[in-house]
Amino acid sequence: MDVCKSIDEIRDVVKSLKIEGKQIGFVPTMGALHEGHLTLIRQAKEKADEVVVSIFVNPEQFGPDEDFESYPREMEEDLKKCEDEGVSVVFAPNRNDVYDEEKFIRIEVDELNRHMCGGSRPGFFEGILLIVNKLFNIVRPDVAVFGQKDIQQFQIVSRMVHEFNHSIELVMAPIARANDGLALSSRNKYLSAEEREIAPGLYRALSYIEKQILNGVHTPSLLMKHQMSELEAKGFKIDYLGVFDKNTLQLSETLNEGGEYILAGAVWLGKTRLIDNFLIEL
Ligand code: AMP
Repeated sequence: MDVCKSIDEIRDVVKSLKIEGKQIGFVPTMGALHEGHLTLIRQAKEKADEVVVSIFVNPEQFGPDEDFESYPREMEEDLKKCEDEGVSVVFAPNRNDVYDEEKFIRIEVDELNRHMCGGSRPGFFEGILLIVNKLFNIVRPDVAVFGQKDIQQFQIVSRMVHEFNHSIELVMAPIARANDGLALSSRNKYLSAEEREIAPGLYRALSYIEKQILNGVHTPSLLMKHQMSELEAKGFKIDYLGVFDKNTLQLSETLNEGGEYILAGAVWLGKTRLIDNFLIEL
């Protein structure tokens, strides 16, 4: 497995692979790899000949009061996991390798970031698009795999691929969960033992709401309010909980037969922010 730090290095490695006629699958990550990331790598392997994984904690997608400094960094373990999964190349740049000191050009997102994580994390998706756009240009993959866990990210990156004419197939991998339903996340490491016990409450609330919707509750606002109170009583602080149109990502107060929706929530448990979602097709 090649481990590249600089853009020149990764470009050379990818170039040789392409000359050999290999299809490149790409999995961008911020490291602290868990089973969820590994399922993405496995999907990329199925779709392409060689897999490139990037590991980069992207400062541009953290707000000033967020956890950039404390975000888990486990490079040695991550490289071992990538090697065990048969990854061909890891791209692990330093901040200065990918970002110039001065920036004059920015990407802006309209509408698609109004709700969900975009609503509570200003600049988050602009930061993601900036790094994903750079990584796509550096790695030039044929296929890129992202997780449903960050479904708003997937939808916004898809839109960028469309509007910026990247010639890349995007694949969405399902959410990898612990046995009790908690969506795996690098941030779960922040949870205390007690919080970890409570954490699957978000999954359970979403599962309950999903069932009610599938049973015919098509104006779910009361149901949502009730579940929010239940979560608060358990010790969660609600960031958002709602049903959103799968494509426009706008809040859907009334659900229609034949519609595609994202039932999504973000909650705080102590200093840990948890997100989860279900895709619902009526
Ligand atoms: P991150 O390292 O958190 O930026 O995540 C890198 C990629 O892994 C993103 O496409 C995430 O959506 C995906 N991912 C993270 N956790 C999970 C999970 N539990 N199941 C599936 N994909 C995930």
